[in-house]
Amino acid sequence: MQVLTTETALQSRLADRGAEDRVGFVPTMGALHRGHISLINRSIEENAVTVCSIFVNPTQFNDPRDFERYPRRPEEDADMLERAGCDVLFSPSHETIYPKPDAHTYELGDVAGRLEGKFRPGHFNGVASVVKRFLELVKPDRAYFGLKDYQQFLVVKSLAARYKIPTEIIGCETVREENGLALSSRNKLLSAKDQQLALRLYGSLVAAKEAVKYGRHSGLKSIGEACFSGPDAPRLEYFEIADGDDLTPIGDGDISNAVHPVALVAAHVNGVRLIDNMVLK
Ligand code: AMP
Repeated sequence: MQVLTTETALQSRLADRGAEDRVGFVPTMGALHRGHISLINRSIEENAVTVCSIFVNPTQFNDPRDFERYPRRPEEDADMLERAGCDVLFSPSHETIYPKPDAHTYELGDVAGRLEGKFRPGHFNGVASVVKRFLELVKPDRAYFGLKDYQQFLVVKSLAARYKIPTEIIGCETVREENGLALSSRNKLLSAKDQQLALRLYGSLVAAKEAVKYGRHSGLKSIGEACFSGPDAPRLEYFEIADGDDLTPIGDGDISNAVHPVALVAAHVNGVRLIDNMVLK
């Protein structure tokens, strides 16, 4: 695996490939886990060259303390990528990504204003800014995103369509611990006890899905929210049922006509903000 940090080095590596060689790209913020590696594996299967970027992007953190304490594990990350068979680790400086501050407000559609957009103002603008920059630098044929960040996946698809970026945006299934907890770099900030509490997110999604399985089509939001009662419970930010294509809210209403309803949850476990989601039918 080559570890590259500059635009020039990246361009010359990419220019060096065969005319038919497709490039797959996996953008990350590091502190890698099996979820990230599943995206790398998919890219390796489908492309001749796989590039993984690691860049903790300050513009997508609406809380500066969250940015400061975000886990950073550069050596472990490089080892994991090497073992996975990744071809290029691109780990640029702040100046390479932002030669000048990006003050642009991106047009991302209604999907970006909902849920995370409401609770983390400016977050998706920062995501759009960094993803667009990386897609312009790497010019991949395909880019891989985790459905764990379901809304981010929809926002990136909207970004690519609106800004005519010719990269195929591919969503990959959420990788979980055996007990259901969605893998997340932020889990590294949780104690063993906190990780148990974090299971309530998964529990709330399963409760809603089970209810649908047994014929219930409304009141699902209340079922999910009820999983966050009690003194020890994570502080719930939202539990919502929405249309999976554009996140139009379904709320506590009837999902019987919804083709692709999804439950999405965000909660704080001891000051660490976690999100998860599940397709309901
Ligand atoms: P991050 O480093 O958190 O920005 O994540 C980089 C990419 O990995 C994003 O596309 C995430 O959605 C994806 N990802 C994070 N956690 C998981 C997971 N548990 N399963 C699958 N993909 C994930």
